Amino acid sequence: MFDVTNQPPPLEPYNPFASDAVLRAAAMREGAEWADAGLSALGATLGKPETIQLGFDANKYPPVLRSFDRYGHRIDEVDFHPAWHELMAIALRAGLHSSPWADPKPGAHVARAAGTYLLNQVESGVYCPLAMTYGSVPTLRHAPTIAAAWLPKIFGRDYDPRFRPVRDKSSALIGMAMTENQGGSDLRTNTTRAEPAGDGSFRLTGHKWFMSAPMCDAFLVLAQTPKGLSCFLMPRWTPDGERNDVRILRLKDKLGNKSNASSEVEFEGGFAQLIGEESRGIPTVIEMANYTRLDCAIGSAALMRQALAQAVHHARHRSAFQKKLIDQPLMENVLADLSLETEAATMLALRLARAYDESDEAAQIIRRVVTPAAKFWICKRTPAVTFEAMEVLGGSGYIEESIMPRLYREAPVNSIWEGSGNIVCLDVLRAIERLPHAADVLRRELDDGGDARLRAFTDSLQQRLQSSERNDESQARALVRDLVLALQAVLLVKHAPAAVADAFCASRFGGGGGAFGTLPRGLELRAIVQRATPLT
Ligand SMILES: Cc1cc2nc3c(=O)[nH]c(=O)nc-3n(C[C@H](O)[C@H](O)[C@H](O)COP(=O)(O)OP(=O)(O)OC[C@H]3O[C@@H](n4cnc5c(N)ncnc54)[C@H](O)[C@@H]3O)c2cc1C
Repeated sequence: MFDVTNQPPPLEPYNPFASDAVLRAAAMREGAEWADAGLSALGATLGKPETIQLGFDANKYPPVLRSFDRYGHRIDEVDFHPAWHELMAIALRAGLHSSPWADPKPGAHVARAAGTYLLNQVESGVYCPLAMTYGSVPTLRHAPTIAAAWLPKIFGRDYDPRFRPVRDKSSALIGMAMTENQGGSDLRTNTTRAEPAGDGSFRLTGHKWFMSAPMCDAFLVLAQTPKGLSCFLMPRWTPDGERNDVRILRLKDKLGNKSNASSEVEFEGGFAQLIGEESRGIPTVIEMANYTRLDCAIGSAALMRQALAQAVHHARHRSAFQKKLIDQPLMENVLADLSLETEAATMLALRLARAYDESDEAAQIIRRVVTPAAKFWICKRTPAVTFEAMEVLGGSGYIEESIMPRLYREAPVNSIWEGSGNIVCLDVLRAIERLPHAADVLRRELDDGGDARLRAFTDSLQQRLQSSERNDESQARALVRDLVLALQAVLLVKHAPAAVADAFCASRFGGGGGAFGTLPRGLELRAIVQRATPLT
C-alpha cells in the first residue's frame, strides 16, 4: 500500500467570511457593519464539511423531470436531491432571496450581497431562484394588489419545497420566462400570446426556450397582448387551486449549473395577471434584470474567490522541487495575479451593491451604468481565473473530487444569461447616452485624488467618455472594460494596501488579458498572496 504524502488537508472547516479580509472590509465599508455577526455565522455554517458536501451532492444528483404521475396524469414536476433543499433552506433562513425588501435598512443590499457571495462559493445552482426572487420584487410592485398577495410569502424565511398553491405555503420563490427559441437578446421577437380573459386576468399561449428553476411558485413572463409586449405573473397553480397550464417539455442538459433545473416550457391558455402597463413589458421587467445582473457580478466574483482560496490553500501545503509551491517565485506571481483579479471584482461588486441601498440620482446612475459594465468584465474574467486556479492544483485540480471542475463549468453562465457580453456593453453605451448626468457622476466616481499610478489611464478614459466616439458599437467592449478597470483601480487605490493597488495599476492598464502570472518585477507579491490566504 502506498503512503499518502505531500497532499494538502481539505480546506474545511473554514469560515469563508471571517477568513476573507477583502470581503469583510468591503461589506463593512459599504454600509453593512451591523451584519458582521450574521455574516460570520452564515460563513461558519457554509464552511462546515457537511455543508460543503451538500454542494457536491446537489450537483452529482441533478434534478429529474416527472412529466406524468403513475396513472398518466400530467404533473410537470421536477424532483431535486435533498441536498438542494437543504442548501435552499440555509439560503432562505439567511434571507438571501428577499431580506433587503422584507427588512429595508441602510446596508441591506450590501449585507445580502456579501451573504450570497458566501453561498456561491459552496454551491451556485441554488443561487438562480434566489437571484430571480430577489430581483422580482420591484417589478411585482408595479401591480400593488398582486404584490400585496405575494410579497408576504416572498419575504418568508421558512423554505417550503412543497408543490402547492402559494396560499398554503410558508414562503414563495419567483422565476422568469422571457427567452424564446427565436430570440433571447431581442425580446421584442417574443411570440407568446396573452388573451384577455374578461375578468382582468389573461390566458397565455406559447413557448419559452429557457425557464430556469421551474419549481418556483410563479414566473414573470413576457407575452404579446393586442396592445403589445407586456409583463405577466404566471403562478404554477390557478386561484381555483388547479395546476396551471405550464407544461415542462424537457430539462436542458447544461455544461454546468447541474444542480439547478433549466427547462423548456409551453403554455396552452395558462392563467396569468398583468404586471405594470400593458405594452410596457420590457421596461417593467428590465428593472428585475438590473438586480439579477448585479447578482451575476457578485456570483462570478464569488466563484473567483472560491477558486483562489482553494489554489492558495493548495500551494501553501504542497511542495515541489524542495519548496512549498507558494514559495516558488513563478507560482507566487500566478497567485498574486489571481488575487488582484479577485479583490478588484469583489470590491467593485460590493461598491455596486451599495448603490442599491441609496436613492439619490448619483446612485441611480451608478446602478444603471455600472451594473451591466461590472457584469460584463467580472463575468468575462471568471472562466480564466477558475481555469488558472485549477492548474495550481495540478492534476488533482482536474478531478471532480476537488471543487475546481464544478467552478470551471459554472464560470461562463453568468456571462451568457441576463444579457450576454455584447448586449450588456451596448446597454452601457445606451445608459451613458440617455442619462444626462452620467458623465459627471462617472467623473466623480473615477476621482482618484490625483494618484499618479492611474491618472493617465483615467484621464484618457474621461476623454473617451465625453467624446461622440463613445457610441461606436464596435468599440463598446474596449470602453466598458476600461471603465471597469478604472473603477476597480480607484477602489484599490483608496481601500487596499499599497502592494495590491501598485500591482493592479502596473499590470492592468496596457490592454493585457493574456495569461495570469505575468506581473512585472518589483512588486510585493508575497504581501498580495498573504492577504488572499483563507485561514482555517
Ligand atoms: C443556464 C441558463 C439559464 C437560463 N435561464 C433563463 C431563464 O430562467 N429565463 C429566461 O428567460 N432566459 C434564461 N436563459 C436564457 C438567456 O437569458 C439567453 O440565452 C440569453 O439572453 C441570450 O439569448 P439567446 O440565447 O437567444 O442568444 P441570442 O440573442 O441569439 O444572442 C447570441 C449572441 O449574439 C449576441 N448579440 C445579440 N444581439 C447583438 C447585437 N445587436 N450586437 C452584437 N451582438 C449581439 C449576444 O450577445 C450573444 O452573444 C438562460 C440561459 C442559460 C444558459
